[in-house]
Amino acid sequence: MGVELTVASEEPSTLEAVNPAGLLTLDFEQPERAADAVRVFSAQYPINGVVGVDDTTAVVAAAVATRLKLKGNPVHAAIAASDKYLQRELLAEAAVPIPRFELRSLEEDPTAIAKSIPYPCVLKPVRLSASRGVMRADSPQSFVTAHRRLRAILADPETAAACGDRARQYLVEEFVPGYEVALEGLVVDRRLHVLTLFDKPDPLDGPFFEETIYVTPSRVPAGLQAAIKDCADRAVRAVGITDGPVHAELRYNERGPWLIELAARPIGGRCSAVLRFGDHGVSLEELILRHALGMSIPSMQRERLAAGVMMIPIPGEGTMRDVRGLAEAKTVPLVEDVQITAHPGERLIPFPEGSRYPGFIFARGETPDVVETALREAHRRLTFVLE
Ligand code: ADP
Repeated sequence: MGVELTVASEEPSTLEAVNPAGLLTLDFEQPERAADAVRVFSAQYPINGVVGVDDTTAVVAAAVATRLKLKGNPVHAAIAASDKYLQRELLAEAAVPIPRFELRSLEEDPTAIAKSIPYPCVLKPVRLSASRGVMRADSPQSFVTAHRRLRAILADPETAAACGDRARQYLVEEFVPGYEVALEGLVVDRRLHVLTLFDKPDPLDGPFFEETIYVTPSRVPAGLQAAIKDCADRAVRAVGITDGPVHAELRYNERGPWLIELAARPIGGRCSAVLRFGDHGVSLEELILRHALGMSIPSMQRERLAAGVMMIPIPGEGTMRDVRGLAEAKTVPLVEDVQITAHPGERLIPFPEGSRYPGFIFARGETPDVVETALREAHRRLTFVLE
């Protein structure tokens, strides 16, 4: 794209001194201070656009955009998008269909809460992502067990730091049954452009919510897709998102679409590689950067082919020693790539305590069905050796 890039991170890079224009250290836990630091930096190295890559940096990017008068979200919108409780409140106010919810403190007696709520319900941390710590409970007994696990997850110092003042709280929600889809969008001047709708063909009924396959185009009937998109559009406006990427999870059932979660960031992990736009196969990242920089966007039309990604399920708890069958998995027709992102020696932690997939499988083909079959076949050929 011919764009010069400065990468900001919360830990200093060893190479920062030799590449002062390209590497910058910011305190992500203090977005306003980070914005001040970027303003000082920009006096020497002009900044024309800013993009966050996850929930935390989306808030920092919003603060920077506000301070430097760049394209971006208001800070309150970015915060609401990363705080499940604030988000629920705004969505409820705007009458966007969401599950019933209550904010609870970890200090409260779980046995008493367990007796007072309807089932099935979902317990979730307020500020984590990737389904980490999200658990379904079907009875008072399973509520108390889930509560114990959630408390242990939030007791980890790094996790607690990421949750800030929400580390001692959690949400209890009504469990919404139904089929789940994910929506990838780009908001331009307050208007949501739906880039794609992904089907999630594996049921997500809990008790934990590990993702697996995302495939697009969605096979959901057109009328229902329109209702889903309308629900996401209302959520974007309710949260106050004005610009940049959004990723939303929605469910639908006989009562219509439900907004489960809206984030002001692109799809996570390596999944974005599945998306290509326009005649030249432009990436999602290029669309996002073009928008942030005020450059023209030639096309937001996804390619004609169906495409899918499998977040490889975490195969168990243990230290990963080896992955067998990689070459065989890559030769499955329609499979484009199999990327193992876990390293030998890495400790794999299943949901709900963990949330890091060991890798990703990508496929493209004429229909979503053949793509889904190819992803499953490639996965069948992989064997993870754990110790
Ligand atoms: P995160 O941001 O950590 O991914 P979410 O709130 O999106 O957390 O929850 C993760 C997943 O858990 C959702 O994609 C959905 O499958 C499931 N889930 C969360 N809340 C509910 C709910 N109230 N009813 C049904 N499923 C839910």
